[in-house]
Amino acid sequence: MSKRDYYEILGVDKSASQDEIKSSFRKLAKKYHPDVSKEDNAAEKFKEAQEAYAVLSDEQKRKQYDQFGHSAFDNNGAGGFDFSGMDFSDIFSDIFGSGFGFNFGGGSGSSNRPKKGMDIAIKMNLTFEEAINGVKKTIQVNVNERCSECSGKGGHGEKNCPTCHGSGQVTSEQRTLFGAFMTRTTCPTCSGKGVTYSDTCKKCHGSGKVNKNKEIEIKIPAGIDTGNQLRVSGKGEAGSNGGPNGDIYIEFYVQKHPLFIRDENDIYVELPITVSEAALGCKKDVPTLNGSIKLTIPSGSMTNDKHRLKGKGIQDVDGYGRGDMYVIIKVITPTKLTKEQKKLFEQLANTDLEDADEFKKIKKYL
Ligand SMILES: [Zn+2]
Ligand SMILES: [Zn+2]
Repeated sequence: MSKRDYYEILGVDKSASQDEIKSSFRKLAKKYHPDVSKEDNAAEKFKEAQEAYAVLSDEQKRKQYDQFGHSAFDNNGAGGFDFSGMDFSDIFSDIFGSGFGFNFGGGSGSSNRPKKGMDIAIKMNLTFEEAINGVKKTIQVNVNERCSECSGKGGHGEKNCPTCHGSGQVTSEQRTLFGAFMTRTTCPTCSGKGVTYSDTCKKCHGSGKVNKNKEIEIKIPAGIDTGNQLRVSGKGEAGSNGGPNGDIYIEFYVQKHPLFIRDENDIYVELPITVSEAALGCKKDVPTLNGSIKLTIPSGSMTNDKHRLKGKGIQDVDGYGRGDMYVIIKVITPTKLTKEQKKLFEQLANTDLEDADEFKKIKKYL
């Protein structure tokens, strides 16, 4: 069981200054933090760096290490250096931003930091019309809200915590063979708040939060599509220690329309026409998202001919204009003919011309 040298682990000289040690550890912690690192053995490397930093950043322990090496901290061969008393929180908040929840053996006392409340995720079905026109909906959510009776404090008659004198943390001394270690833990009396109350709030029983079924009116903008998300800011769970409320995220599923086919902000609709309408041309009523319009179909129209109705699509959800509507022609060949119609088609057949390119093309291979 040979352990790597602490200086080697941090990549610093034996004569390195505290600033160099700190900056080197910071780099390693950033690289190997198990919550963010994708490196192999990140957790082990992180632990190793932590241990090295815990010793070398403390002048007294560093001296012991320089003198006795790893054996200075071998607790009767049990192995492993106990750094439960170390406070890494300032270094980690430097690296990862404040609020990065980090506790070593319950030691670093971050429980009185402001914390944002939890977000709530909701799935919502919308009809096609609701999605394209926008709609107001009332949703029911069950949230833990800040208690109005005690303003989220949990009690009345605030005073400095007698155990920790307001710091939220208590320090205790741990004696070992090689000296005393100071261990900081969250104050058990005030749970890290630094204050206690003469009366516990009767409404929330000291938790500072009350559970509530709430109705929230949501304004859903026009143009929502399946998979879109809407954030309703500040309507989630109450935060702690003065932290902001969480948010509500609504994810939408939009039902299909029986006629209109949606492609992002464009709308497609199939328009059936008869063979004679296709041959002669016609005017047809076409349904759009807001009322019918008359569309002129030119003579000689074919199945899959496409007519673009500019700006007749869906309002963009972020306000970037409107999509278009495409009318796709479907020529419907009659399947049941009356005697008279059959005669007419037969007469027509005698006049059939096969001079279109499509006919010429296939004839080449006959
Ligand atoms: Zn306390
Ligand atoms: Zn209360």
